[in-house]
Amino acid sequence: MDNFIANYNKSYIDGKWVDGDTGQKEDIKNPYDNSVLTTVQLASLDQVKNAYEIAEARQKDWAHYSVDDRREILRKAAGFLQDNREDIISIVSQETGGTLLKAELELNLSIDVLEETFEYMDATGEVKEVHATIDGKRNKIYRQPLGVISSISPFNFPMNLSMRSIAPAIALGNTVVHKADLQVGLTGGSIIARAFDYAGLPGGVFQSIFTSPDEIGDEMLENPTVQLIAFTGSTGFGKHIGKVAGENLKRVALELGGNNPFIVLEDAEVDQAVDAAIFGKFMHQGQICMSVNRLIVHENVYERFSEKFIERAKQLPYGDQTDPDTVIGPLINEEQVENVLEIIDKAEKNGVKMGLKGKREGNLLTPFVFVDVDSRDEIAQTELFSPVVSIIKAESDDQAIEMANDTNYGLTSSIFTSDLEKGEAYGMKIDSGMTHVNDQPVNDAANIPFGGNKQSGMGRFGNPWVIDEFTKLKWISVQEE
Ligand code: NAD
Repeated sequence: MDNFIANYNKSYIDGKWVDGDTGQKEDIKNPYDNSVLTTVQLASLDQVKNAYEIAEARQKDWAHYSVDDRREILRKAAGFLQDNREDIISIVSQETGGTLLKAELELNLSIDVLEETFEYMDATGEVKEVHATIDGKRNKIYRQPLGVISSISPFNFPMNLSMRSIAPAIALGNTVVHKADLQVGLTGGSIIARAFDYAGLPGGVFQSIFTSPDEIGDEMLENPTVQLIAFTGSTGFGKHIGKVAGENLKRVALELGGNNPFIVLEDAEVDQAVDAAIFGKFMHQGQICMSVNRLIVHENVYERFSEKFIERAKQLPYGDQTDPDTVIGPLINEEQVENVLEIIDKAEKNGVKMGLKGKREGNLLTPFVFVDVDSRDEIAQTELFSPVVSIIKAESDDQAIEMANDTNYGLTSSIFTSDLEKGEAYGMKIDSGMTHVNDQPVNDAANIPFGGNKQSGMGRFGNPWVIDEFTKLKWISVQEE
């Protein structure tokens, strides 16, 4: 991976590394010290349109590759990621501001997602298990690739969240035009393109574009070749995608924001809950869709839990994310820091009580903890995406569940109790796509149905549910009598 940053800071179109032709440049920075890692040239709308034409032209060919050939290419791509682990972890950490632990987790999940496709790559073709019975007809059901897919990914876990759409799409015979968030274009685009390039993926099957929403507008949502928009990011932009996709009758897979509750019931083991809450809140500075956003704690354990949580939060080492001892690194950029500080300021002005006042150092915020928060307060209803959290007191276990559901989001949740049956039963009452009993909510795997309810999204990733997202069914009937 020598000189990776210098050699692959480009868009990858039709199997070639190309500079954008708009004449506009953008710096990719390490968010800890704002040092420039590289400067990229932005692609034009014409280049993006061209990528879609290529993607459409190559899709049928790609779909006709044998499963063995497709599997071999994806296996080589996974091998590339394994063989270059140290370099990749270093780039991911520098570019995303994530700690080395986060970068390694992100790499491992990306490899898992790629390797999981080996289990279901043969899903396209005739669907054997369906026996349609209509008199006088021979009926066959086929599963087919959708065609061309747009993939758009966010800044926080860019390699994994891009790969989560790209790997199944390609494995199932689709072609993909992908745009990572520019701030993390190497992690979210170039490393993936490099792995596929190395693996011998034919040109045009996967294309990664460095461009800006200002340049391309809604092209990735409206281009006539596109059959599915696979988006991971904010609920705000997800709603816009839903609207445009609706007008153009395109399919969507949307993985959006969260306001994840972490519930501590009266009979919970408090130390275990504190440990889990610290990880689930502060991993990657709280910039994960699954991060804890609200701690909802039964009044009988509230004081004990809050004191211990604040004590632990105070002691978390912070600083340069590439130092192996660091737990809290920077937020993604200055604007995000300003946004979070504004939310904190507003909450204080609204009289919300601060249990731990963190501080700012450049783009880094140390933990802020609000206590005795009302479940309806704005701070409890906002996705904070930062090392800021609200602790809410519940008078009963049932009220804790009511409060947990008192949000427009429904991605994931945690519930702590010493009664595992009760944990499951209460977990079933929480309106979120995922619930973890006695574990923190930052949990993902390539073979579970990952996804949210309500305004947290539509669709599910993970084998085998992801197959439905990236394929379509066709019924062929033959009248025999
Ligand atoms: P965002 O919606 O601001 O951006 C996501 C992507 O969309 C970026 O690549 C951005 O450049 C692109 N984008 C924005 N406007 C665009 C336009 N007009 N045209 C084309 N592309 C455009 O989200 P973000 O701030 O990067 O990510 C944080 C959000 O993502 C949080 O709400 C978080 O919860 C959510 N998220 C959800 C999941 C999940 O699996 N549910 C995972 C990670 C993050």
